[in-house]
Amino acid sequence: MGAVAIAAIIAVTVAVTTSASGDDRTGTTTEGSTATEASGSSKTGTALILGAMQDCFMEDSVSSTGKNGTLRVEGTASVIDVINEIRQERGCLFDVVVRSEDDHPRHHISFASTHGLPPFAHTLGKLGLPIMCRDFQGRASCCPTYWVEGPESQNCDRVLCPDSSNMTEDARERVLASPACELCLDDINNRCFSTRQQMWPDHCVQNEESGIPPSLYTTDGDIVLKRGDNPYVDAYSAFADNTNRIPTPLHAILEQLEIHTLYLVGVATDFGILYTATHARNRGYNVVVVLDATRHINDASYEAAIQQMEEEGSTVVYAKDVLAMECPDGAN
Ligand SMILES: [Zn+2]
Repeated sequence: MGAVAIAAIIAVTVAVTTSASGDDRTGTTTEGSTATEASGSSKTGTALILGAMQDCFMEDSVSSTGKNGTLRVEGTASVIDVINEIRQERGCLFDVVVRSEDDHPRHHISFASTHGLPPFAHTLGKLGLPIMCRDFQGRASCCPTYWVEGPESQNCDRVLCPDSSNMTEDARERVLASPACELCLDDINNRCFSTRQQMWPDHCVQNEESGIPPSLYTTDGDIVLKRGDNPYVDAYSAFADNTNRIPTPLHAILEQLEIHTLYLVGVATDFGILYTATHARNRGYNVVVVLDATRHINDASYEAAIQQMEEEGSTVVYAKDVLAMECPDGAN
């Protein structure tokens, strides 16, 4: 990979507003697209992907505002030292560093408040809010099943439902403005699919909480990739939204740089890191998760995430393993 090629695309901030393409739904297997196959390619580059190391996920002791992030993840203060050490001691291993950042409009579909629900409602026994999603004319969207099929369609004693009594008329109109609310109503061709949405506090709202922790080591060459700007679809992965219908520019950037191996660090192990690992494996990358350079949200989903990532062919290592690696020939 030439220095010119790298210089042409580094130091850019890219927003996830690309058009939808492809039909590769989020998968849990990597059949037909494995690192073994990818290793037969000529790509040899390595990237370090930092997941969501931004104020909204940080503890107060390290955020640029001195306040806890709106979706604070425990242990983020200590993970910065681990990530910094990897970059400062073994920056030679990485051809490029990508910082993937959450970036939501107000009233985003992932905000519990949008649906009249309390934050973390998905942890209260009914799992996430059932939603129906599809892509149409270049834009993916999702709508709560409650609104698509009607309130009477849902047994709200058993599944999570929006609390319409706690939603203003404005909020209801905003939710119903999602194209999926109409498109999935009469879905004779079954192009909509059902999934569930976790209910988070309002977090990482665009232009309101966009700082990064001052102690985080960064360089002007880092690629900053913003995701989650579609009000009707959440985006945990650095590669695509949660419907896997709207890709970010990341895959194209990494292909151009001939990157084959990704090291994943940051937050959250059980959401952003997991989804990024899955999408990366589906796209044929070799994936290495540096476990003690990540922090998670929920203990139970953390264990499940590690198991899923390993089953999908990602490798789990620790920072000491990365620090013990030799620099490639000619690098320093
Ligand atoms: Zn988010």
